[in-house]
Amino acid sequence: GKSLAGEKGKASERSFVMIKPDGVSRQLVGKIITRFEERGYKLVAVKSLTPSPALAKEHYIDLASRPFYKGLVDYITSGTPVVAMVWEGKDVIRQGRRIVGATNPQESDPGSVRGQYAVSVGRNLIHASDSFDSASKEIELWFAESELAEYKPTTWDWVMADN
Ligand code: GDP
Ligand code: MG
Repeated sequence: GKSLAGEKGKASERSFVMIKPDGVSRQLVGKIITRFEERGYKLVAVKSLTPSPALAKEHYIDLASRPFYKGLVDYITSGTPVVAMVWEGKDVIRQGRRIVGATNPQESDPGSVRGQYAVSVGRNLIHASDSFDSASKEIELWFAESELAEYKPTTWDWVMADN
């Protein structure tokens, strides 16, 4: 059916963003959410959960052959919850990656979440979808369509204006 990531390049575009267990344990949830909120993106879904190994493995299936895959799955399923979210708005997938920063915090812009708060690639606090196809797959993997809210923030027309 229709992609849960909305329409690429339009205000309906959506990204899957997840605060990993270190972000929750380090009590950075509010600060991270605020970056997306203040930019003007719309919080369409949010839930806290401890992912099953099956869910974590599927989420990172493209990395299954990498040496850090098992450690990555152990990290995500540590028992400390993650905060799984869907954010919506124009260019949110690409801008979400910029807000999050480079994979290795040693290379992340200091203004990004990873560049401000993280040091280790294996504890880099946050995930964001890297493409429209990834966003579609990840939103479908983590959320039911019925969990995705439809509403318009009061700020929406000002923030998303395209003229
Ligand atoms: P991302 O899209 O920026 O999160 O990066 P990738 O999709 O390439 O990798 C997914 C996640 O795997 C990263 O966010 C890290 O948590 C982890 N990861 C990637 N590369 C390494 C590595 O070299 N060592 C370790 N320990 N973890 C890694
Ligand atoms: Mg990735």
